[in-house]
Amino acid sequence: MDARDRLRLYLEQRRDLGESELIFDSLTVDEVMRAIGALGASEAQPRPEIPSARNAHETTSRKSDSRATPAAVRDAAPVTLASQSAHGIVAGGDAAELFSAELMRLPSLDAIADAVEACTRCPLCKTATRGVPGDGAVTARLVCVGEAPGANEDATGKAFVGQAGQLLTKILAAVDLSREQVFITNVVKHRPPGNRNPAPDEIAACSPYLVRQLELIQPKVIVAFGTFAAQTLLNTRTAIGKLRGEIHRYHGIPLVVTYHPAALLRNPAWKRPTWEDVQLARRILDSAAVA
Ligand code: SF4
Repeated sequence: MDARDRLRLYLEQRRDLGESELIFDSLTVDEVMRAIGALGASEAQPRPEIPSARNAHETTSRKSDSRATPAAVRDAAPVTLASQSAHGIVAGGDAAELFSAELMRLPSLDAIADAVEACTRCPLCKTATRGVPGDGAVTARLVCVGEAPGANEDATGKAFVGQAGQLLTKILAAVDLSREQVFITNVVKHRPPGNRNPAPDEIAACSPYLVRQLELIQPKVIVAFGTFAAQTLLNTRTAIGKLRGEIHRYHGIPLVVTYHPAALLRNPAWKRPTWEDVQLARRILDSAAVA
């Protein structure tokens, strides 16, 4: 286990103990890492000061005075140690307020798409063909969130195409929804090489785009397809089997968890529970319409 893994483990343990933020006072990152045994004295290098979580928030607030541009987002590094440290912590929890102010001020879905296309916040942009920001209207009442683009999405720039995408279209049609009526996106906007799972720091770097998309759309219901989407949006490590079948909340928005269409292709036995989950999402939509 290298120093980065040990630091991540430490931060995850603090989170599991109920801490939502860490304040390092005047300590530098090297001093913190050395304190937890993750950095030998000979490894210490002079480096720019990284703000504590609380200071990072203050920095974010000051930055919000400047006007957002895709270039500013492209060049902005993830601003918090917390957002770099652990999966499941970056969206839907306290860390959301610590995200890059420039990114969180992007004014439209088109601006987010432009920012994704230009983004270099994580290494996935080097191996992917293009960004896949998501498809649909800002007026969508239901948002589908998956894990990451695959080969077909990488080739076309469209979310959920190919076999899994066709199955998603059928799933939506089963509850009288067309793709045009919903917004479809992923937690990670560039394809991981070989369709590997997104790494925690890639999820942390990319989640602000999803946070901002949901903030702009304000859907009546979110459906998280698969483990990564569910755990990221709900800030949890609970297994998908325990999350599905009930109504969760993402910043007050009802959220339903179900299996990823790609998983259904491998395991048809999950089609029945998925059907029940999307029916639940449909009922939430219907009840929102009459409320
Ligand atoms: S995956 Fe997300 S964070 Fe990484 S380069 Fe693409 S848009 Fe940026």
